[in-house]
Amino acid sequence: MRDWMKREPVVIVAGRGAVLRDEKGKEYLDANASIWTNLHGHGHPVINAAIKRQLGKIAHSSALGLASEPASLLAEKLVRLADSPRRPKLRRVFFGDDGSTAMEAALKMAYEFARRTGRSRRPKFLSLQSAYHGDTVGAVSLGHIGLFHGAYHGLLFKTDSVMAPYCYRCPFNRARPERADARQYRQCQWECTDLVERKLRAQKRKGNPYAAFVFEPLIQGAAGMVPQPAGWLRRAADIARGHGALLIADEVMTGFGRTGPMFACQQERVAPDLMAVAKGMTGGYLPMGATLTSKAVFGAFLGEYDEFKTFFHGHSFTANQLGAAAALASLRLLESAACARARRRLREALGGALQTLWDLPNVGDIRQVGLMAGVELVRNWKTREPFALAERAGIRVCEAMAKRGVLTRPVGNVIVLIPPYCATPAQARRMVAALREGVDEVCV
Ligand SMILES: *Cc1c(COP(=O)(O)O)cnc(C)c1O
Repeated sequence: MRDWMKREPVVIVAGRGAVLRDEKGKEYLDANASIWTNLHGHGHPVINAAIKRQLGKIAHSSALGLASEPASLLAEKLVRLADSPRRPKLRRVFFGDDGSTAMEAALKMAYEFARRTGRSRRPKFLSLQSAYHGDTVGAVSLGHIGLFHGAYHGLLFKTDSVMAPYCYRCPFNRARPERADARQYRQCQWECTDLVERKLRAQKRKGNPYAAFVFEPLIQGAAGMVPQPAGWLRRAADIARGHGALLIADEVMTGFGRTGPMFACQQERVAPDLMAVAKGMTGGYLPMGATLTSKAVFGAFLGEYDEFKTFFHGHSFTANQLGAAAALASLRLLESAACARARRRLREALGGALQTLWDLPNVGDIRQVGLMAGVELVRNWKTREPFALAERAGIRVCEAMAKRGVLTRPVGNVIVLIPPYCATPAQARRMVAALREGVDEVCV
């Protein structure tokens, strides 16, 4: 906090496309899509117009016992987009305010489902090491990042964690070859999914199988942009389901095309029972989240009035009409062929530019999934020795990038690039060039 107090903040006053402008008139590229939320750029005429049109009718009315047109249309659209052709599943939508509350609702639904169906009296949850699911107490309880979550330890309920893949630092020394030193590895034997299986089996043997297995699909964001190897999610999900656990997919970061398909789970043909979305849902214009679930989970909350089985959870701004209008406009843009083309071009440009960073001695790993990338800085690429967090390597590189007109935030020693989908290939190359110059300036 002292560092932050000492410095003059960059005061953003305007934005157009992938460009932000501060009060002094200096322009920056929004290289993390305003903390992973923005899809089509700032000030998009279609989204602006949709919000203004809705504002002309009404900004907000309670959804507690009432309905609204934009929220109903949005729910219908989300159900259609989340559909898995093989097993249509996510048919019910609960609107919340953001990613944390979307996860909070998923957690409570899974908890009550397990109790009401008699599966467990004291439902337990299994999530991944280094998981991040938001900052409310339930979401923090599911998280396993010591630095973020340790402070609240005494406040949290206990959840179990299991190893998530981190191929660059694979403890079994089986990481897939990324560089010339590849020969030191042996072939991956899926030891990490074996661990998932062992954990689930042990809990089942205790007579109280896990109520749900919770995961960020394809890539863990706050863990440092750590992707799962192809096939991991499918295997882990099959194992969890085989042991009777519901699947809770946290698509808050990965949803809405960020990894390629509309939702990351679709890439691995995993059909979760609950799915949390937020960040990009409104195109990054307004705060809004949603929890999608199945008819089976929904059914556990149906009853006569005096059974009091309703889902006891609600927010004042649930199903906010302005947010829903923005989301509908953003999703229409997202489904256009032009957007698909632009995303493909951007993904290739970003990937090509990132490959040029391998020659930097402080670049240990470069990880890209769709339109998300993390560049892990290390003291020495040969030994993979990390920088101590206190050295603030990631923060200093991002400060050097800001001087060059590129704004992003690091996760520890990982520099994150998450451009809005509207960024041009030239803008993506400028983001990577600033990263290169930043590393050159800061690391020696
Ligand atoms: C950002 C994020 C959240 C929390 O979302 P908020 O809108 O910040 O509350 C949850 N899960 C994941 C994977 C995230 O990236």
